[in-house]
Amino acid sequence: MITEKMVESVPFIDLSQQHKYLKAELLSAVGKVLDHGQFILGPEVKSFERCFADYCGVRYAVGVDNGTSALMLTLKALGIGQGDEVITVPNSFLATVSCIANVGAKPVFTDVRGDLNIDPDLLENAITARTRAVIPVHLTGRPADMGKITALANKYGLFIIEDCAQAAGARYYGQKVGGFGIAGCFSLHPLKVLGAIGDGGIITTNNTELYEKLIILRNHGLRNRDECETWSVNSRLDTIQAAMLLVKMSYIDKWIEVRRAIAAYYREKLRDYVAVPEEMPHEFSVYQTFIVQAERRDELQKYLSAQHIETKIHYPIPLHIQEAAEELGYAIGSFPVTENLTRTILSLPIYPELNQIQIETVISAIKDFYGKYN
Ligand SMILES: *Cc1c(COP(=O)(O)O)cnc(C)c1O
Repeated sequence: MITEKMVESVPFIDLSQQHKYLKAELLSAVGKVLDHGQFILGPEVKSFERCFADYCGVRYAVGVDNGTSALMLTLKALGIGQGDEVITVPNSFLATVSCIANVGAKPVFTDVRGDLNIDPDLLENAITARTRAVIPVHLTGRPADMGKITALANKYGLFIIEDCAQAAGARYYGQKVGGFGIAGCFSLHPLKVLGAIGDGGIITTNNTELYEKLIILRNHGLRNRDECETWSVNSRLDTIQAAMLLVKMSYIDKWIEVRRAIAAYYREKLRDYVAVPEEMPHEFSVYQTFIVQAERRDELQKYLSAQHIETKIHYPIPLHIQEAAEELGYAIGSFPVTENLTRTILSLPIYPELNQIQIETVISAIKDFYGKYN
């Protein structure tokens, strides 16, 4: 029986909960940084890079200031720019596309499948003589179909740059994301599976030449203290953020397990009411978001909101329809799967600190909605 007192509001995310139990550890890590004073590229940056590379099962990792820089620096390091085309999806966060435009290359979209990830069967049609790379996004923390994508990339000699922003720890046939292509680009934004106390990002690679280039590109193009090899930017990861992230690395697998348990419970309880994200045996998703596909989505969202259950839409406007994408020449109708999803997708609250009463509140509200309104 649920009593009045037990019904709780359910915010979409509540980072203060996590930092309550981590606070002492985090403050102690900050204290160490204050004591040694190496705020720029200090020892914690190197330690975090080593730790994250090992976690992903790759040779190298390069800490940067955010996930968008991770993507841009990787494209730049690979010499991708004017006259080149890069293929990605229209249903991602805008940074997946802006990074391509910002290095002077042309973004080309390929529609997605029901799993919200790039459709490898459509990908081949988008490849031209100018295509240099493909950026599959592991959206929601579910791995894209890397087997087929890798086969196509090999056939046409394309780089694969994985957008792992939402997918730290996700696996495809047992292998962690970030090592399937030439590079994996992660965001460490506070809302991601592994989040800093502010902005952060990291690039993974097995390629020594790319690694060495990235180390230079993130730091003004400096080969050493005084010699500049190429004009670049300041995109370093802060020492203080690396120190926080090192603390959080000890919790990441536990957090992912909780996210997965909540997802499994939502899936079981909501399957008869909305389309839930399934998980195939070869997939290990980390549920950065839990996106259902719902009939009368807008009404449902309002109904939940009235009961203090906060939900979001990732993303309400497909990238090819954004004003910024006008010159690419796409129109409504170009990517029907993405466009249809835009009308039905709804992201439910999912984070390790969500309590059982809150989870039950979400489930019963959705059941109520379809019970009452069907
Ligand atoms: C968050 C995100 C990014 C950008 O990361 P920032 O750290 O915010 O710059 C890129 N791609 C995807 C899919 C994301 O979710």
